[in-house]
Amino acid sequence: MLDIKVVLPTFEKSPLHEAYSISKVLSAKRSKKVILGKKKDKVCRFCSMNESQTSFKNLAHLIPEFMGNKTLFSNYECDNCNNYFGNLETSLSGLGGVFNSLATLKGKKGFPKFKDNSDEIEIFARSIKDIVIRFNNPEKKSRSIQRDTNNKLYHFNIQQPSYIPQNAFKSLMKIGVGMMPETEFNDYKNTMAWLLDGNSVDQTNNPLFQVYRKLGGERRFLQPWAILFKKREFNNNYLYPKHTLVIFYGILTYQIFIPTVEDKDLLFNQNEMILPISKYLVELKRNDKVNNTAHVVPINLGSNLKFRPKRIEFSSHFRTHE
Ligand SMILES: [Zn+2]
Repeated sequence: MLDIKVVLPTFEKSPLHEAYSISKVLSAKRSKKVILGKKKDKVCRFCSMNESQTSFKNLAHLIPEFMGNKTLFSNYECDNCNNYFGNLETSLSGLGGVFNSLATLKGKKGFPKFKDNSDEIEIFARSIKDIVIRFNNPEKKSRSIQRDTNNKLYHFNIQQPSYIPQNAFKSLMKIGVGMMPETEFNDYKNTMAWLLDGNSVDQTNNPLFQVYRKLGGERRFLQPWAILFKKREFNNNYLYPKHTLVIFYGILTYQIFIPTVEDKDLLFNQNEMILPISKYLVELKRNDKVNNTAHVVPINLGSNLKFRPKRIEFSSHFRTHE
């Protein structure tokens, strides 16, 4: 029996840093353009085709544009793969849903509009400081948004969009794989066929297909940040997946563990697998030695069927216009 341990950090201790070191940090800047990979003799990291076999006309975003990335690009991605990943990205964007609009992130077509047609409401940003909440039928009592004028608060009860979980997972994984130094990428070469397979099998029961998510925090990331961690060398090498990615964008933070196809034999034949969570994913209190308050919210992204999430409730005192 494989025993999965999701281990959380405490104020004093970071199990993630004991098991992993930083492989690469990328922060998208407003104006400084960064392109990973060589300019000449490009080879696509995903389909392994070179410039004579496929085209590299479009500059591929290393991190999706909807996350606020306007400056980080990749020479490791051909036009075909770029199209394919563009489709998967719809699911990653759907996983963020209303939070993409509330975070006032600018995508390809400006600020994204969140709509609930049955409830006749719209939420969108007009600038990075102004969020518009529009009730298209003022007669109707909205299920999604209630305004508490006394406390200048909005209560949200939102139907997030449907998405395909495994597509969202693959989109996150693609970011991590795209960031890897060449030597670390070698371990993932055999996994690329799976990443490009539009009909890959359901992974609902695979613990490596969880994403850990944090909503809110002290900062809002108008440009995304990504930290890729690689496993340190151990005697028992197979307790931990090889890489884990933490990505911050808008008001969301995600962490995933990046599997390889070989992990099925390596990780899953052990008695135990350890998944250490980053301190960025949990709220830590100085006195919380026993770690009672820290918790993470995992979302299972193994399924390859369209998924309609439960309604999500939260309150906010965003400065808004109606
Ligand atoms: Zn390709």
